[in-house]
Amino acid sequence: MNALPSAAAGLPGTEPRRPTREVTVAWQDTLVRIGGKAPIVVQSMTNTDTVDAIGTAIQVKELAQAGSEIVRITVNTLEAARAVPAIREQLDRMGVSVPLVGDFHYNGHKLLTQVPECAQALSKYRINPGNLGAGHKRDDHFAQMIEVACRYERPIRIGVNWGSLDQALMARLMDANQQSPHPQPASQVMREALVQSALESAQQAERLGLPGDAIVLSCKVSQVQDLISVYQDLASRCNYPLHLGLTEAGMGSKGIVASTAALAVLLQQGIGDTIRISLTPEPGGDRTREVVVAQEILQTMGLRAFTPMVVACPGCGRTSSTFFQELADDIQTYLRQQMPVWRDQYPGVETLSVAVMGCVVNGPGESRHADIGISLPGTGEQPVAPVYVEGERVVTLKGEHIARDFQQMLDDYVRRRFAATPSTTH
Ligand code: SF4
Repeated sequence: MNALPSAAAGLPGTEPRRPTREVTVAWQDTLVRIGGKAPIVVQSMTNTDTVDAIGTAIQVKELAQAGSEIVRITVNTLEAARAVPAIREQLDRMGVSVPLVGDFHYNGHKLLTQVPECAQALSKYRINPGNLGAGHKRDDHFAQMIEVACRYERPIRIGVNWGSLDQALMARLMDANQQSPHPQPASQVMREALVQSALESAQQAERLGLPGDAIVLSCKVSQVQDLISVYQDLASRCNYPLHLGLTEAGMGSKGIVASTAALAVLLQQGIGDTIRISLTPEPGGDRTREVVVAQEILQTMGLRAFTPMVVACPGCGRTSSTFFQELADDIQTYLRQQMPVWRDQYPGVETLSVAVMGCVVNGPGESRHADIGISLPGTGEQPVAPVYVEGERVVTLKGEHIARDFQQMLDDYVRRRFAATPSTTH
């Protein structure tokens, strides 16, 4: 079993995690728990054509290796549904046991019932209650999907999205609002419609026989303040685990900043059991970036640890070369690359802190606070680089090979400190 570390509870400054039911998403021996006392789970989604089973399996593997604990794939056509078992088999052959979630819209009821092998190969189904049809048809389609979830004992996520909000529900709430003596702004009605759509669908699923501990909820919007408000409301009205994500967050720094701003507020309040960062990749960009950003949000907030973190100063007029920036970048990249091996070899290494600093002003102080740190020489300083290990200055590096020597010291430190710790993973 791949056990995740236990949840961080009661960190200074954070509110305790909101109590929720616990949902298990499983594939063979891999169990990922969402909610309850489980750590906050990192998810991601592929952007390959699901019909391309090999291409999709390769991207799932990349996302899983980057640290995605659950991966969602689009299932939009019969061909895509028929490709899902092949994707699962390919992953199993490659030794990748990450659970797969099927993302269904419009025709999920047909695909799950017509391709039972697809329903079985998936570990969880995402259902969007806003695009299942209208009236009785909507209820019938929803019931068909829940029936499949019950038959194969699969959890679901009821994933409401403001871009595909249940229009009948929205119209009903707007009418009621107009007739109210104290009408709310339209934006407030929209927020209420999102929350009601999720809660009513969850209750409907339970009435149809799905256990309450097989339901995760999400209500994604693209504006930060809307997201915070909607999730605060949702959290106060149910005890289902919540999947957080700012939908259509955007590209580059905008997407990262907007997602971080929204999620950090909620996570600080103890809201959120699993997260996904919906970054638009640059053309040809790396899809695993969304996994790294999700991990960095959780790690910089002290909620989980995934990879040793490098503390680096921003540099200033005291540094005339890019040497220290390159060293900081090289060390961070090196640490991330080592993690697939180090994770098993050196349990606890993800909590390691490394400092790479640019001059004598803050260099020695920050390096002393890290487990291992180097203070590089600024402009006009002696061309020497003191290295600190656990607060003590242990050596002063100089010459051509400072970077190589520091990396060697880092390797030795990791081996010495973490190798003796008994493994907690199997
Ligand atoms: S540590 Fe030195 S180089 Fe880095 S920002 Fe501070 S003063 Fe500038």
